[in-house]
Amino acid sequence: MAIKITVWNEDNVQESSPDVLKVYPQGLLGAVADMFPGEHFQVRKAWLSQEEAGLTDEILSDTDVLIWWGHCKHGQVPDEIVTRVQGHVLRGMGLIVLHSGHESKIFQRLMGTQCSLRWHEMNERERIFVIEPSHPIMWGLPMHFELEAEEMYGERFDIPTPDALLALGWYQSGEVFRSACLFNRGYGKVFYFQPGHETLPSYHNPYVKQVIVNAAFFIARNRVLDRELHSDFAEALEKF
Ligand code: ZN
Repeated sequence: MAIKITVWNEDNVQESSPDVLKVYPQGLLGAVADMFPGEHFQVRKAWLSQEEAGLTDEILSDTDVLIWWGHCKHGQVPDEIVTRVQGHVLRGMGLIVLHSGHESKIFQRLMGTQCSLRWHEMNERERIFVIEPSHPIMWGLPMHFELEAEEMYGERFDIPTPDALLALGWYQSGEVFRSACLFNRGYGKVFYFQPGHETLPSYHNPYVKQVIVNAAFFIARNRVLDRELHSDFAEALEKF
């Protein structure tokens, strides 16, 4: 039983800037894709400069959870692709939106708000507080953990009230942020997680990786079980 993950980025490794490659030699696309252990996950990479932005109907139909990282090229994602991804989420595909993906068209579309926030880039320390330790996305995490340097994302974050608020970020400059938010949309779930500025090493942090992998497991769980049950059911039917 493998969970099918599609990791999407606006850049592939060749398109990544030297500043990103210094921190992530495989680019952000590779860094996120490499978080998923092969025994439980089938991971596919997709990026903007591919045909149909790498998100054909066939690929989305074969995806349990789509993971989205974008920053400078949100406007280049065609609206019909956004509508297609939205349709798949409403029918049950999971979506994990990372860091600057907060202003992606797909996140704005699914939230129905601007998803704007306050920010500054001073590479300051962030402490992330787990406020729902019993939630499966937070399993295995301490009460709080620190990132030595992150871009500050602060309130107000213009999102609807999340269906579950799982973690809060606090920064050295005194700002706070709802850093881990889960939303139900149609038959699907959308999870937003704040760490991941492109020139800082947050995706090397074991707790950050744990949250992203936990989220994929949690979001995909029912979908994968459904698929297994349906194939068992189909097999059982064939015996009649
Ligand atoms: Zn950033």
